[in-house]
Amino acid sequence: MTDWIAEDKKYLFQNYGRQPIVLEKGEGTRCWDIEGREYLDFVGGLAVNVLGHAHPVVAKAVAEQAATLIHTSNLYYTKPMIELAKILVENSFADRVIFLNSGAEAIDAAIKLARRWGKDTKNGAFEMISTQDGFHGRTMGSLAATGTVRYREPFEPMVPGFTHVPWNDIEAIKAATTPNTVAVLLEPIQGEGGVNMPAPGYLQNVRDWCTANNVLLIFDEIQTGNGRTGKLFAYETEGVVPDIMALAKGMAGGVPIGAVLATEAIASHLVPGDHGTTFGANPLATAAGVATYRYILDNDLPARAERASERLVARLRSLEDRMPDVNTVRGRGLLLAVGFTRDISADVVAAARERGLLVNNVRPNAVRLMPPLTVTDDEIDRACDILEDAINAVAGSAG
Ligand SMILES: *Cc1c(COP(=O)(O)O)cnc(C)c1O
Repeated sequence: MTDWIAEDKKYLFQNYGRQPIVLEKGEGTRCWDIEGREYLDFVGGLAVNVLGHAHPVVAKAVAEQAATLIHTSNLYYTKPMIELAKILVENSFADRVIFLNSGAEAIDAAIKLARRWGKDTKNGAFEMISTQDGFHGRTMGSLAATGTVRYREPFEPMVPGFTHVPWNDIEAIKAATTPNTVAVLLEPIQGEGGVNMPAPGYLQNVRDWCTANNVLLIFDEIQTGNGRTGKLFAYETEGVVPDIMALAKGMAGGVPIGAVLATEAIASHLVPGDHGTTFGANPLATAAGVATYRYILDNDLPARAERASERLVARLRSLEDRMPDVNTVRGRGLLLAVGFTRDISADVVAAARERGLLVNNVRPNAVRLMPPLTVTDDEIDRACDILEDAINAVAGSAG
């Protein structure tokens, strides 16, 4: 039998720390490895599989589109891109959408859009303020915006013009603002940084400061969008509306896609020739997006995520009460993290995996849970049983 992991180690760049299982198929919240072992998937492809694995509406849309027209380039119009843009505009603050192929590309496009606006309207202002522990992607532009020093340092020098301030610190944003500041870029909830919630009033204070100083507010909703936090977009929870929003991850139910949404006053500054990508708005990806978004909206999945979250959070909080190693449950909707008093998350992830549950060690002392928005009560209960068992096993072995 082929040793797939050995072949990976031989042929692929070794830039990922993969879990030692080879996944072969999935259905809903469950997936199976090549040895037939079943897992409850509470990683969800990193908040991508909003409808779970192999959802029939996504599978059908992809199959039909693949058999009809996969790719055209942006030299031509196609129906799926226009349908998806219309759905996004009709259900958000935005007036216009540009499609990209990933989250990092969406952030790069948002950076270019903000700089273009600064050039046209604000004496060439180009500096951006983002947050420490904020995550925006790995391309050179999105990396410069990312707040984690160890991701940036090996690739310096960075694209100039980015300042990183502490999360939840409005005074730091005020102090960092200069006449050359074009935008503040934030995740409404920091995802990769450890599922860090905004302090009450923080997002509104940032909005007010940006408005008063003619600075754009860009929300990176790549992880928090697409229904995950109990609203279609996380900005809706507190009613703090950005000028520009980046989306990706779950937008097309697992097919690679990204997008930037903006108001007309800003979007109009990108003119023909300013930005583009061969695959952007690709019919396959946007047809998957249309199917995913229609399903999310028709079935009110944000509300369903909210209800599932209540059950999951209640179960996790009971762990917090009973287990000395567990000290926080944080997040919103189905973007949650369990924090530990010690750096045991890699061991908890391994112990959970061995027991049939996939979770993500987002921090050395926190695991992140991002199940599909379609997760069932029974799956939540089973996942929490396994997680408790796994934490107990780690606590026992650590003595
Ligand atoms: C995942 C993520 C990105 C990067 O998206 P990629 O598709 O991996 O390039 C950017 N911002 C946030 C908030 C993310 O969660």
